Amino acid sequence: MIDNMLKLARINIQKLKPYQSARRIGGEHGDIWLNANESPISVLFKLKKKSFNRYPECQPLNLISAYANYSNLCNDQILVTRGADEGIELLIKAFCEPGKDAIIYCPPTYDMYRINAKIYGVEVKEVPTIKNSWQLDILNIKLNLDKVKLIYICNPNNPTGNVVFKKDLLFLLKITLGTALIIIDEAYIEFFPQESMSFYLKDYPNLIILRTLSKAFALAGIRCGFTLARKDVIDILNKVISPYPIPVPVSDIAIQALEKDAIKTMKSRVSDLNANRTWLVNKLKKISCVKKIFDSSANYILVQFFMFEKVFCTLWEQGIIVRNQSDKINLNQCLRISIGTRMECERLIEEIQFFSKKFHF
Ligand SMILES: *Cc1c(COP(=O)(O)O)cnc(C)c1O
Repeated sequence: MIDNMLKLARINIQKLKPYQSARRIGGEHGDIWLNANESPISVLFKLKKKSFNRYPECQPLNLISAYANYSNLCNDQILVTRGADEGIELLIKAFCEPGKDAIIYCPPTYDMYRINAKIYGVEVKEVPTIKNSWQLDILNIKLNLDKVKLIYICNPNNPTGNVVFKKDLLFLLKITLGTALIIIDEAYIEFFPQESMSFYLKDYPNLIILRTLSKAFALAGIRCGFTLARKDVIDILNKVISPYPIPVPVSDIAIQALEKDAIKTMKSRVSDLNANRTWLVNKLKKISCVKKIFDSSANYILVQFFMFEKVFCTLWEQGIIVRNQSDKINLNQCLRISIGTRMECERLIEEIQFFSKKFHF
């Protein structure tokens, strides 16, 4: 019976390996979760709206205005979505002809660009970044532009943590003007705000920016993201979004999170996390089972370990859950560690130090 049902699914769905989300892999195991780049600290909210018998606005105006204010843009340059993930999908849905168009994706990076393209039957051209610097391979992107409608670039990149050279992004925007859209996923931009490309939206009609409240804003649980672009692109995306994508409690909380005081709190949390990252990197540098630490401008670090599997399992057994990235291109022996509270960072270091001594590194 199960086999028969699978045969009914579209061929590309039959072959699809779904996204391995942290919650799917990690389940509820452990007490220190450093595997999904979430905020380790929760913010408490109270719902202001108490009745839910009516459908929400398709694009809640107060929320759009709040985000426009936060990002220094106009209301008509903003689309609210069910997380940044929905933005990734809507772009493919609206711009890519299945079986005809292609996207470019530059691994190692966030997997959802590739997975959404596969779901829609859109070709994925993989142009890996340069090993260890993780900068874009501009030459190869340029050589692969045939049929390409969308180029997804994550900045700062997940899971490597680097920021992408601004000159490369501007070069890509120039050479694809009129043929393709450049999508910059700024899910972690609050950890290095100077790198945002939002300033360039006025200059480049082919620039799209994705944002989220899931990371720096500590609201992964409400599923709220934003797509920033010129009005004509936003209008197209509004054609394909579902009729009521943002539940009333979501916009209620998101609006509160974008109030002046809440943004201040967010910024202070970000600077604490950035300080914890520096602390963690300095401690790790002195541990001998650590092979290499990559520079990060986000709330996680990518670390290469000797005996990385044993490190992963030892931490797991101690209730500390990190993310194994070793199956990704050029990420041999690498684990990604989200930055937790200072106490969580201390626990992590203790365990890795203990491990390192036990195996006489
Ligand atoms: C976490 C993450 C997202 C998903 O954001 P949501 O708003 O939670 O859907 C998108 N892009 C990158 C690079 C991420 O790391």
